[in-house]
Formats: sequence, C-alpha cells, structure tokens
Amino acid sequence: MLEFSHLCEQIAATKKKTEKTRLIAEYIRNQDTEPAAVACAFLSGRPFPAFEESTLSVGGALIWRALGRVIDLREGEVAAAYRRTGDTGAAAEILLARHDREGEPLSVLDVEAAFRQLSKARGTEPKVSALEALLRRAMPLEAKYILKVITSELRIGSKESLVEDAIALAFAAPAAQVRRANMLLGDIGEVLRIAKDGALGSARMRLFHPIGFMLASPAESSEEAFEYIEDAAVEDKYDGVRCQAHCLQGEVRLYSRTLDQITESFPEIVHALSPLQDGVILDGEILAWDAAQIAVDASEAAEPKHGSLTNFHSHARGRALPFQALQTRLGRKRVTEAMQKSAPVAYVVFDVLYIDGQLALDVSLSDRLKLLDAVFESLASAPEAPAMRTSLFDVKDATTAPILRAPVTRAANAAELDEIFDAARDRGNEGLMIKDLSSSYVPGRRGKSWLKLKRTLATLDVVVTGAEWGNGRKSQWLSDYTFAVLDTENDRLVNVGKAYSGVTDEEIQHLTKHFQETVLVDNGHFRTVQPDTVLEVAFNNIQRSDRHESGYALRFPRILRLRTDKSPAEADTLERVREIYESEIAAGRSK
Ligand code: AMP
Repeated sequence: MLEFSHLCEQIAATKKKTEKTRLIAEYIRNQDTEPAAVACAFLSGRPFPAFEESTLSVGGALIWRALGRVIDLREGEVAAAYRRTGDTGAAAEILLARHDREGEPLSVLDVEAAFRQLSKARGTEPKVSALEALLRRAMPLEAKYILKVITSELRIGSKESLVEDAIALAFAAPAAQVRRANMLLGDIGEVLRIAKDGALGSARMRLFHPIGFMLASPAESSEEAFEYIEDAAVEDKYDGVRCQAHCLQGEVRLYSRTLDQITESFPEIVHALSPLQDGVILDGEILAWDAAQIAVDASEAAEPKHGSLTNFHSHARGRALPFQALQTRLGRKRVTEAMQKSAPVAYVVFDVLYIDGQLALDVSLSDRLKLLDAVFESLASAPEAPAMRTSLFDVKDATTAPILRAPVTRAANAAELDEIFDAARDRGNEGLMIKDLSSSYVPGRRGKSWLKLKRTLATLDVVVTGAEWGNGRKSQWLSDYTFAVLDTENDRLVNVGKAYSGVTDEEIQHLTKHFQETVLVDNGHFRTVQPDTVLEVAFNNIQRSDRHESGYALRFPRILRLRTDKSPAEADTLERVREIYESEIAAGRSK
C-alpha cells in the first residue's frame, strides 16, 4: 500500500495528464495482476468495481471516531488539521504522524479485503472497529489514501478515463477498445486482467450490470439546437428520474442514473416489464403519472410531423405529474400497494441499448427507434400483457404501471421547434430533448448529439459543502446550505452560494441527520460536511464576487430539489457558471 500511496503522491505532483497516465501505466505493468487490478479501482476513486453494489457507508463522524481510538485526539485538533488541508485523508495523515503503525505492513489486497469487511459490517460499532483495525496497521501516508478512497475524494487528478488510458499504454492496446471493455464490464480491474492477456475483444455485455447513461448538453435556444443537429428527433423532456431497465425471462432490474438498483422502489414497473422474455435493456424516465386524466397528448398535438417515427400508443392515457409527486416514491425499499395507489408511476421509454443478444449502442438512433418498435410489439403481444392494459377501464390496477413509448416528432426548423416546445410545456413537461437521428448511444458522456432545451432560467446542480443551524422554527435543524460547483481544472469544489429555501421539512430533517453523520469539521454554528449531497438550485442571476474562491456568487438562490440521482462528480462545473455569467452579460442581465 505504501508503494501505491507514493504513486498517488507522484500523480498529484504533476499537472500533466500524459505524465499521470505514464506513471499509472508503469505502476500497473510492474505489479502482479491482482494488486494492479485493485489499484485500478482505487485510482478510479472507488473501493470496489463500478458494477458492484457494495457501498462502504462510512462518513466523516465515523472516520474521526475510529481515528480517535488509534490515537488520542486533542480538543480542536481534528478541525485544525482539516482546515489546513481541506481533506479528510490529508488531515488524518497529519494526525497519525505520532502513531507507530502496528502489525503486518499493508498490501493493496489487504486494504481491499478490509474494505469488504467494512462494507459487510452492519451498524456503527462494527464499522468503527473494522476501520480502527485497518488504520492501526497503516502508515500515515497509507491512511491518507485509504481514507481518500473511502470518502471518494481522491483529488489527485486521477479518474477512470485516465486509468483506461494507462491500461492502453501499459499493454499496447487501443484506448477505444479499453474504454469499450470497461463500459461493457463496469469493472476496471477485470479490464486490466483481460488487457494483460490480450483478450480485450472477449468483453461481452452482461445483463443486470448497468451501463452508463447517455447525457445531454443544454441548448440555449431552438436556433442553437439546429446549429448542432440537422436531422433531429424531438421528444418531450420529462421531469422524473432516469431509469435503465434490464429484462430477461421474467426477471427485471431497474437502475438509476448513479447505476444503483432501484428495482424495489417500483414493483409495478417490474411487473409490467416481466412479460419480456428475450434479453433487453431499455432507457427511459420514471414519472409520477395520473392515468385518470385524458392527456392533451403528444399523439394528437404533434401528429402531422411524426412521419415514419410515429409510434405513440394512443390508447395509453394519462399525464405526467410534477416531479414533487414522485418524491414520496424515491429511495424506498418497501413499497406498499397503498403507496402505489397514492403516487402512481409510469415508465416512459425512449431508447433501447440491447436486444436480440446484441448491444445496440453503435446502431443509429433512427434504427434504435425501430428496434424499440419490436420491444413494444412483444410487450403488446405477450399472453400476459399487463403493460399494455393502460386503457381508462383498468387504471385502478395499481400493481401494474403503464409502460409508454416516448412520442417522437420531427422539426424542420427553429420555428417548428418552438411550437413543439410550447406544446410540451402545455403537456406539463419540462421542455424538449433534441436528438441526432444519426448518432450512436455514447454511455456516460455529455455530448452534442443529445440536446436539452428548457428555456427557463438556467439551473445548476451543486454540491453541499457546509451546513448551518437555521433560525426560529428551524433552529434545531441544519437548514442553511453552502454549496459549490466543480472546478475541474484544479480538481476541487469551489463555493458559489448559500441557500435555505425550497426543501420540505421532511427533507431538512433527513439532511440534518445526514450532515450530522458526515460532518468533517464542527465549527459550532457552521459545519463543513462531506461533499456528497447534490441540490438543483435556481437563481436570479450570477455576480462576480470576492467572497467565494470561485470568483462568482449566485444571487437569490433557491433550492428546487434534492438530486439524489446525481453523484457529486456529476454536478455542474465552474466553466458552466462562467458560461451562464457571460451569456447573462451578453443579454444585459448581469453586471
Ligand atoms: P438534466 O438532468 O437536466 O441533465 O437532463 C437530462 C435528463 O433528462 C436525463 O438524464 C433524463 O433523466 C431526462 N429526460 C427526460 N426526458 C428525456 C428524453 N426524452 N430523453 C432523454 N432524457 C430525458
């Protein structure tokens, strides 16, 4: 583990990506396969391979308790070390300087085994003891990187894409092949193993291992959308949660944007997809759905322009409800029939990634939409076709959710797009998605082949870095949140504002508990917290500001919602803040 920790220090010490890649490549070439495979996961900022669902559930408070058992911590010492370094791992390194490590020296494999134990341990006490035992054996520098992996804050400018490049370099393989294998397997260690054996071509898609979602870039206007995409498929932008559904012979599993399983939260969708016998992976959005309303619907509104892409099942009735209606259904492990009735959902499918034993990622969108026809046909013709029983007469069947096909229209110019946009807003949806019909499905990347047009004032997804006790009624709660965006150039978070309105009391209570568990530095009123919570905030405009390191401050920020579906690495960037600021200057809205 010491050699690995030195490698991390070397990676951190250079800004050059090529040098970082070279260092990693040299290290993995010189190690045995298994330690190198584990190191690849650690260098990607993860304790375990991406496809695994194991989590450590170890927050700041637990870390400091474990550390407090290894060494005597003096009053205020943790806060001081944290303030000096701004990082849990680096703070622990300073504090552990006075500790003589105990027992056998740690290898990378020992650390992975300890992570597995930590992940299995249930409850605070067993976790604290497991971590204590690990930290006792660690040198200060090793503890630094152990904790950096645990807190997902590596901050050495290494990330999965860099490790992919390093594997390519180390074993003279094409980088594209390495990326593809990693996308298919979701296990960077396994990618190293097969790259070493010259067997990257053997990587196959495995059902029930989620793959990254294709993401969209914002378009400021219809005109801008047409600058990027000539032959566009246009869909409503639904305001729900993204969901990848894997189905095979009656087994169905649902995955969120963060690739976590959400199968248990939506049994009625599982039930509705269960007739799909042949392996298929679908991409779509789960929405709160009012089936009783007869939709003023896309099937009618956009009919003339559907052309060959018409495929909306017009017997599917209903209308999306605002995102808030879905909130009660998120994150639940057990869902009663009463919940299914009081907050019904639908799954709106807009893409297919795997069908007939083959990945469809490289197939163009226009062809994928045809493949999707086949999926819906087999759903409709299944002997038990619960999914299609969405007529007005059986909406009371709450145990089966409607599975809908996202209607696709086409627009020849910006004016037409504006018309469709207004219709989408009238249908209660957020805006439009404009997709290049010739594009393939690129997992995990935000490209220009999919554009989102919201045309409300921009919002930002930000990460909470600090929490404060509220005032008056909220004085028992950590209800005021300081938040940051990603400064990708320097691999850090920089604050851009503070907000205290927009979340429900229930959410504030939940967040208070969470922040108490993940507090990194307790300054009394203000607490620095582990940056793991993403919020979507709206604001009036952006100003230049000396108050924050970012150089910007959001004016009148309001929290729109908690983005439990997003990880901090997916938050908006400083570059995006700059872009919005510049465009507001151009529009005369900011000074
Ligand atoms: P955002 O969350 O603002 O980055 O917007 C992208 C998200 O819009 C996707 O991750 C989906 O969850 C959601 N979305 C809604 N409707 C669609 C659609 N028709 N196609 C693709 N994504 C959609």
